[in-house]
Amino acid sequence: MTTTNSPQLVDIGCNLAHRAFREDHDAVVSRAAEAGVGTIVITGTDLRASREASWIARAQGGRLYSTAGVHPHQAKSCEDGVIEALRSLAAAREVVAIGECGLDFDRNFSPPATQEKWFEAQLELAGELKKPVFLHERAAAERFGFLVKKHRSDLVGAVVHCFTSDAAALDRYLGMDLHIGITGWICDDRRGGLLRDLVRRVPLDRLMLESDAPFLLPPELRKTTKRNEPGFLPHVLQSVAEARRESPEEVAAATTANARAFFRLP
Ligand SMILES: [Zn+2]
Repeated sequence: MTTTNSPQLVDIGCNLAHRAFREDHDAVVSRAAEAGVGTIVITGTDLRASREASWIARAQGGRLYSTAGVHPHQAKSCEDGVIEALRSLAAAREVVAIGECGLDFDRNFSPPATQEKWFEAQLELAGELKKPVFLHERAAAERFGFLVKKHRSDLVGAVVHCFTSDAAALDRYLGMDLHIGITGWICDDRRGGLLRDLVRRVPLDRLMLESDAPFLLPPELRKTTKRNEPGFLPHVLQSVAEARRESPEEVAAATTANARAFFRLP
């Protein structure tokens, strides 16, 4: 698949600091650029990964950016200095958002109360620093919605990444003027059906695309590889455009403009 006639895509969530990319992240970034994905925001999932994400972004000089945060799965490993460390990391030019942070009550790798404590601390940090926030929610829509609402007026922007929830959650998030990130979940014939319906309710100016690589490989690529890459983002674009009955060019242009404005990319 090629996007030669489409505007450059922005992958707003790629876990390039994940060990799956340790050997070849430069090659992965090059392949992404060839596929029309010229800009990548690398997700920080804990302090170590956030630091690594910022190093990788900086080494690429201007086309890559990163986030600084702690995923709810890692909340139990947070120590008292973590917010201070994220604050100093966020001063770097390439760090364009706070997160990934949020609530994940699906598997509760961290106790819910611990997740909530560090989620709120990161929402406060994002508000203080006037940086947008990159949010994760799984099986926790109610408490997540409550906490985001509590802090919403202090936040300059917030994206619910890898949205896979239901209509009620989507309407609530859109009602709070949140952005919605769509991954290759939508490419999955079996489990992506609801998302293909719901994505049509998202106003075009609230929509962004993400690979969430190395996870969430679009199923049509399973025969060739096991690992997702940012260069496969055009598959997500295609599925989103089909579901919305819009042209890939239109969706590409809008999602890229949204990402540039949201993360304040030059
Ligand atoms: Zn996530």
